[in-house]
Amino acid sequence: MSKHPYSINRSRFNQLKVLLVSAALFTLAAGQAGTAAASPASPAVSAENKQQMLGHDQRIILIDAGHGGIDGGTSHGDILEKDITLAISQRLFLLLRSDGFDAILNRTGDYAPSDENRWLRSKSRHLRDLAQRKELAETLPANVVVSIHINWAKSPSKHGPLVLYRKEGRSYMLAQSIQDQLNLLYDTKENPREGRPFYLLNKITATTVIVEAGFISSPADREKLCRPQGQEELAEAIASGIAAYLMEA
Ligand SMILES: [Zn+2]
Repeated sequence: MSKHPYSINRSRFNQLKVLLVSAALFTLAAGQAGTAAASPASPAVSAENKQQMLGHDQRIILIDAGHGGIDGGTSHGDILEKDITLAISQRLFLLLRSDGFDAILNRTGDYAPSDENRWLRSKSRHLRDLAQRKELAETLPANVVVSIHINWAKSPSKHGPLVLYRKEGRSYMLAQSIQDQLNLLYDTKENPREGRPFYLLNKITATTVIVEAGFISSPADREKLCRPQGQEELAEAIASGIAAYLMEA
Protein backbone atom coordinates (compact mmCIF):
# COMPACT_ATOMS: atom_id res chain seq x y z
CA MET A 1 0.00 0.00 0.00
CA SER A 2 1.66 3.20 -1.10
CA LYS A 3 -1.03 5.43 0.26
CA HIS A 4 -1.93 4.79 3.83
CA PRO A 5 -5.66 5.00 4.60
CA TYR A 6 -4.97 7.09 7.66
CA SER A 7 -4.29 10.11 5.49
CA ILE A 8 -7.95 10.11 4.47
CA ASN A 9 -9.06 10.18 8.06
CA ARG A 10 -6.47 12.82 8.87
CA SER A 11 -8.15 15.31 6.58
CA ARG A 12 -11.45 14.43 8.21
CA PHE A 13 -9.90 15.07 11.59
CA ASN A 14 -8.58 18.41 10.48
CA GLN A 15 -12.05 19.39 9.33
CA LEU A 16 -13.38 18.37 12.70
CA LYS A 17 -10.69 20.35 14.47
CA VAL A 18 -11.70 23.41 12.49
CA LEU A 19 -15.30 22.71 13.48
CA LEU A 20 -14.26 22.35 17.08
CA VAL A 21 -12.38 25.63 17.07
CA SER A 22 -15.38 27.27 15.37
CA ALA A 23 -17.64 25.80 18.01
CA ALA A 24 -15.40 27.15 20.76
CA LEU A 25 -15.36 30.59 19.20
CA PHE A 26 -19.11 30.43 18.71
CA THR A 27 -19.56 29.46 22.34
CA LEU A 28 -17.33 32.33 23.40
CA ALA A 29 -19.26 34.78 21.22
CA ALA A 30 -22.58 33.39 22.44
CA GLY A 31 -21.39 33.74 26.02
CA GLN A 32 -20.45 37.38 25.48
CA ALA A 33 -23.66 38.16 23.63
CA GLY A 34 -25.52 36.30 26.35
CA THR A 35 -23.97 38.50 29.02
CA ALA A 36 -25.07 41.58 27.13
CA ALA A 37 -28.57 40.22 26.72
CA ALA A 38 -28.60 38.97 30.33
CA SER A 39 -29.29 35.38 29.21
CA PRO A 40 -25.96 33.53 29.34
CA ALA A 41 -25.64 30.40 27.22
CA SER A 42 -25.84 27.28 29.31
CA PRO A 43 -22.39 25.66 29.61
CA ALA A 44 -24.04 22.24 29.40
CA VAL A 45 -25.62 23.04 26.05
CA SER A 46 -22.36 24.47 24.75
CA ALA A 47 -20.48 21.35 25.74
CA GLU A 48 -23.12 19.23 24.04
CA ASN A 49 -22.84 21.27 20.85
CA LYS A 50 -19.09 20.93 20.91
CA GLN A 51 -19.35 17.19 21.40
CA GLN A 52 -21.84 16.83 18.56
CA MET A 53 -19.59 18.80 16.26
CA LEU A 54 -16.61 16.76 17.27
CA GLY A 55 -18.60 13.66 16.39
CA HIS A 56 -17.56 11.64 19.43
CA ASP A 57 -18.89 12.70 22.78
CA GLN A 58 -15.65 12.63 24.75
CA ARG A 59 -15.66 8.89 24.93
CA ILE A 60 -12.71 7.39 26.75
CA ILE A 61 -10.58 4.92 24.82
CA LEU A 62 -8.54 2.63 27.05
CA ILE A 63 -5.54 1.12 25.33
CA ASP A 64 -4.55 -2.10 27.02
CA ALA A 65 -0.91 -2.89 26.25
CA GLY A 66 -0.93 -6.69 26.50
CA HIS A 67 1.31 -8.47 29.03
CA GLY A 68 4.24 -6.81 30.84
CA GLY A 69 6.76 -7.46 33.61
CA ILE A 70 7.31 -11.16 34.24
CA ASP A 71 4.54 -11.90 31.75
CA GLY A 72 6.34 -11.62 28.43
CA GLY A 73 3.50 -13.06 26.36
CA THR A 74 4.51 -14.97 23.26
CA SER A 75 8.04 -14.77 21.90
CA HIS A 76 10.46 -15.49 19.08
CA GLY A 77 14.04 -15.84 20.27
CA ASP A 78 14.59 -12.81 22.47
CA ILE A 79 11.75 -10.84 20.84
CA LEU A 80 8.96 -10.59 23.40
CA GLU A 81 5.30 -9.81 22.78
CA LYS A 82 5.16 -7.45 25.80
CA ASP A 83 7.75 -5.11 24.23
CA ILE A 84 5.98 -4.96 20.87
CA THR A 85 2.53 -4.41 22.41
CA LEU A 86 3.97 -1.57 24.49
CA ALA A 87 5.64 0.09 21.50
CA ILE A 88 2.48 -0.08 19.37
CA SER A 89 0.27 1.00 22.28
CA GLN A 90 2.40 4.05 23.02
CA ARG A 91 2.27 5.11 19.38
CA LEU A 92 -1.48 4.47 19.26
CA PHE A 93 -1.93 6.56 22.40
CA LEU A 94 -0.02 9.52 20.91
CA LEU A 95 -1.90 9.31 17.60
CA LEU A 96 -5.33 9.24 19.26
CA ARG A 97 -4.37 12.03 21.64
CA SER A 98 -3.07 14.24 18.85
CA ASP A 99 -6.36 13.71 17.02
CA GLY A 100 -8.27 14.95 20.04
CA PHE A 101 -9.48 11.65 21.42
CA ASP A 102 -9.58 10.92 25.12
CA ALA A 103 -7.13 8.02 25.11
CA ILE A 104 -5.62 6.36 28.17
CA LEU A 105 -2.77 3.88 28.21
CA ASN A 106 -2.79 1.34 31.03
CA ARG A 107 0.92 0.50 30.92
CA THR A 108 3.76 2.85 30.11
CA GLY A 109 6.68 0.63 30.96
CA ASP A 110 7.73 -2.96 31.41
CA TYR A 111 5.67 -4.07 34.38
CA ALA A 112 2.63 -6.25 34.95
CA PRO A 113 -0.59 -4.50 35.96
CA SER A 114 -0.92 -7.24 38.61
CA ASP A 115 1.91 -5.48 40.51
CA GLU A 116 -0.43 -2.64 41.38
CA ASN A 117 -3.66 -4.58 41.74
CA ARG A 118 -5.92 -3.17 44.39
CA TRP A 119 -9.06 -5.12 43.61
CA LEU A 120 -8.47 -8.80 43.56
CA ARG A 121 -6.48 -10.56 46.27
CA SER A 122 -5.97 -13.72 44.28
CA LYS A 123 -2.87 -15.89 44.53
CA SER A 124 -2.96 -16.17 40.75
CA ARG A 125 -0.83 -13.45 39.24
CA HIS A 126 -2.61 -13.95 35.92
CA LEU A 127 -6.03 -13.37 37.49
CA ARG A 128 -4.77 -10.32 39.40
CA ASP A 129 -3.36 -8.97 36.16
CA LEU A 130 -6.63 -9.42 34.29
CA ALA A 131 -8.64 -8.03 37.19
CA GLN A 132 -6.45 -4.94 37.20
CA ARG A 133 -6.97 -4.37 33.47
CA LYS A 134 -10.71 -4.91 33.86
CA GLU A 135 -11.09 -2.70 36.93
CA LEU A 136 -9.22 0.14 35.27
CA ALA A 137 -11.67 -0.01 32.37
CA GLU A 138 -14.62 0.06 34.77
CA THR A 139 -13.25 2.77 37.02
CA LEU A 140 -12.48 5.32 34.31
CA PRO A 141 -15.07 4.36 32.96
CA ALA A 142 -13.80 3.53 29.50
CA ASN A 143 -16.30 3.36 26.65
CA VAL A 144 -13.95 1.58 24.31
CA VAL A 145 -11.21 -0.87 25.29
CA VAL A 146 -8.66 -1.93 22.70
CA SER A 147 -6.34 -4.64 23.93
CA ILE A 148 -3.15 -5.01 21.90
CA HIS A 149 -1.61 -8.46 21.45
CA ILE A 150 0.62 -10.43 19.09
CA ASN A 151 -0.29 -13.78 17.62
CA TRP A 152 1.76 -16.97 17.37
CA ALA A 153 1.37 -20.08 15.22
CA LYS A 154 3.38 -23.24 14.72
CA SER A 155 3.59 -22.60 11.00
CA PRO A 156 5.78 -19.64 10.02
CA SER A 157 3.59 -19.14 6.94
CA LYS A 158 0.58 -18.17 9.04
CA HIS A 159 0.46 -14.39 9.06
CA GLY A 160 -1.67 -11.28 9.15
CA PRO A 161 -3.83 -9.31 11.55
CA LEU A 162 -6.83 -10.63 13.46
CA VAL A 163 -9.28 -8.68 15.57
CA LEU A 164 -11.37 -10.53 18.15
CA TYR A 165 -14.76 -9.30 19.26
CA ARG A 166 -17.24 -10.13 21.93
CA LYS A 167 -20.61 -11.48 20.77
CA GLU A 168 -22.19 -8.05 20.81
CA GLY A 169 -23.04 -5.56 18.06
CA ARG A 170 -20.79 -2.65 18.99
CA SER A 171 -17.82 -4.89 19.66
CA TYR A 172 -18.28 -6.50 16.24
CA MET A 173 -18.50 -3.10 14.52
CA LEU A 174 -15.35 -1.85 16.22
CA ALA A 175 -13.53 -5.09 15.38
CA GLN A 176 -14.60 -4.91 11.74
CA SER A 177 -13.51 -1.28 11.52
CA ILE A 178 -10.01 -2.01 12.89
CA GLN A 179 -9.73 -5.24 10.86
CA ASP A 180 -10.51 -3.31 7.63
CA GLN A 181 -7.65 -0.88 8.24
CA LEU A 182 -5.19 -3.61 9.22
CA ASN A 183 -6.20 -5.62 6.12
CA LEU A 184 -5.32 -2.60 3.97
CA LEU A 185 -1.94 -2.36 5.67
CA TYR A 186 -1.18 -6.08 5.38
CA ASP A 187 -2.97 -6.61 2.07
CA THR A 188 -4.99 -9.40 3.68
CA LYS A 189 -8.69 -10.25 3.66
CA GLU A 190 -9.18 -11.57 7.19
CA ASN A 191 -12.52 -11.25 8.93
CA PRO A 192 -12.72 -10.40 12.62
CA ARG A 193 -13.49 -13.39 14.79
CA GLU A 194 -15.52 -13.91 17.91
CA GLY A 195 -13.14 -14.16 20.85
CA ARG A 196 -13.11 -17.33 22.84
CA PRO A 197 -14.64 -16.64 26.21
CA PHE A 198 -11.69 -15.25 28.04
CA TYR A 199 -11.68 -12.95 30.98
CA LEU A 200 -11.05 -9.55 29.47
CA LEU A 201 -13.67 -9.75 26.73
CA ASN A 202 -16.32 -11.23 28.97
CA LYS A 203 -15.94 -9.13 32.08
CA ILE A 204 -15.59 -5.64 30.70
CA THR A 205 -18.85 -3.82 30.01
CA ALA A 206 -17.24 -1.30 27.63
CA THR A 207 -17.06 -2.00 23.90
CA THR A 208 -14.02 -4.26 23.87
CA VAL A 209 -11.87 -5.83 21.19
CA ILE A 210 -8.56 -7.66 21.15
CA VAL A 211 -6.21 -6.75 18.33
CA GLU A 212 -3.75 -9.45 17.33
CA ALA A 213 -1.47 -7.13 15.38
CA GLY A 214 0.37 -9.89 13.51
CA PHE A 215 2.20 -13.19 14.01
CA ILE A 216 5.51 -13.10 15.84
CA SER A 217 6.13 -16.53 14.24
CA SER A 218 5.91 -15.13 10.69
CA PRO A 219 9.15 -13.61 9.31
CA ALA A 220 7.22 -11.03 7.25
CA ASP A 221 4.96 -9.99 10.13
CA ARG A 222 7.92 -9.87 12.53
CA GLU A 223 9.62 -7.40 10.24
CA LYS A 224 6.61 -5.09 10.55
CA LEU A 225 6.08 -5.73 14.26
CA CYS A 226 9.66 -5.03 15.30
CA ARG A 227 10.63 -2.03 13.18
CA PRO A 228 9.63 1.46 14.40
CA GLN A 229 8.23 2.26 10.94
CA GLY A 230 6.09 -0.89 10.98
CA GLN A 231 4.93 -0.18 14.52
CA GLU A 232 3.88 3.32 13.49
CA GLU A 233 1.96 1.96 10.49
CA LEU A 234 0.20 -0.56 12.72
CA ALA A 235 -0.68 2.13 15.25
CA GLU A 236 -2.01 4.36 12.46
CA ALA A 237 -4.16 1.57 11.07
CA ILE A 238 -5.59 0.77 14.50
CA ALA A 239 -6.20 4.47 15.23
CA SER A 240 -7.98 4.84 11.87
CA GLY A 241 -10.20 1.88 12.69
CA ILE A 242 -11.10 3.25 16.13
CA ALA A 243 -11.76 6.73 14.71
CA ALA A 244 -13.97 5.40 11.90
CA TYR A 245 -15.98 3.39 14.42
CA LEU A 246 -16.41 6.30 16.82
CA MET A 247 -17.49 8.66 14.09
CA GLU A 248 -20.14 6.29 12.79
CA ALA A 249 -21.34 4.88 16.09
ZN1 LIG B 1 -0.99 -11.68 24.17
